[in-house]
Amino acid sequence: MNYNECKKGWVECIVGPMFAGKTEELMRRIKRMEYAHKNYLIFKPSIDTRYSLTEIVTHNKKALKAININHGSDIKRYLKKDTQAIVIDEIQFFDSSLVKYLLEFADQGYRVICGGLDRDFRGQAFKVTGEIMAISDSVVKLTAICSKCGKEATMTQRIIDGEPAHFNDPTILVGESDSYEARCRDCHEVIYDDER
Ligand SMILES: [Zn+2]
Repeated sequence: MNYNECKKGWVECIVGPMFAGKTEELMRRIKRMEYAHKNYLIFKPSIDTRYSLTEIVTHNKKALKAININHGSDIKRYLKKDTQAIVIDEIQFFDSSLVKYLLEFADQGYRVICGGLDRDFRGQAFKVTGEIMAISDSVVKLTAICSKCGKEATMTQRIIDGEPAHFNDPTILVGESDSYEARCRDCHEVIYDDER
């Protein structure tokens, strides 16, 4: 089955830990749309304040203009007659109602491309990302390189004052590269407070 041949649109998602190249992969797909003269809009959550408020920025500092939104329902009012694709970065920061809007956009004929973290620093699933993976027509799960041992990294390590974060620390994962690292399952560490 080729979802590209559907009259309706479809949903693609790109997930993985930090430093896996998710935003680079989004940008690669955006570039291909530019070559094909497709009209697209890029959205990101207002909460993602690292580096820039109005652009999606990869860790190697390439930037593209993005529209900041608070909620999935905000997307509709930016869509123009000639919009063909909707790109959303950092999907893990939205609530689960985003899923409903993505399905509507796909039914209306839009190509929807999402990127974001699949797991938080504890290794637990971001609920909204998990749901989007389930309803996507295409899922790409990227890996990074473990900063400790160089193996395939599927997890995001949070470090606070040089120490692994505690399980009960807040979830919101917005930060500079010095407080987060990609880690493999062997090297990933979380401190459980009841062990102290
Ligand atoms: Zn490792």
